Amino acid sequence: MKFSSTELKQFKIIEKDEEYNPEKIIGDSLDHAVFLGKIKVSAQAKLIDNNVFVKGEISSRIKFRCVRCLNEFEKGHSTKFQQFYSLEEEIIDLSNEIRESILIDLPLHPVCQINCKGVVPELASQNNPSTFYSEELKSDPRWDQLKKINLKGNKSN
Ligand SMILES: [Zn+2]
Repeated sequence: MKFSSTELKQFKIIEKDEEYNPEKIIGDSLDHAVFLGKIKVSAQAKLIDNNVFVKGEISSRIKFRCVRCLNEFEKGHSTKFQQFYSLEEEIIDLSNEIRESILIDLPLHPVCQINCKGVVPELASQNNPSTFYSEELKSDPRWDQLKKINLKGNKSN
């Protein structure tokens, strides 16, 4: 998205709504997120003294892979940005700002839902046990018996 300084001097405020192909904004595809459809950007550029204040909102639809259950899921994503630019530049180009705002805001460890139980216990490796698995161990009544034995042992020492 670009704004012209000449136009801003004339109109003081300019608003724009544009849609972009994801590869045009993000460039190389990401490992943990696939953009579905276009990335929408709405922004307002406003002349303040000799600067241009730009604020905007970016929205898109993204397919993630849940880090717990490994299932793919789709989610709407939106983020806001704001930035000052110098009026000395004839063309104010928001490309970098838009790209960085999206990348910073994307979840690094996407989860399909807050209480996702993760993979089923049979598939959980010992290096990466799921929450579901460890909760089962905590509530296993057989551990209570072991605790009693340990207590007795401590007393006799
Ligand atoms: Zn999940």
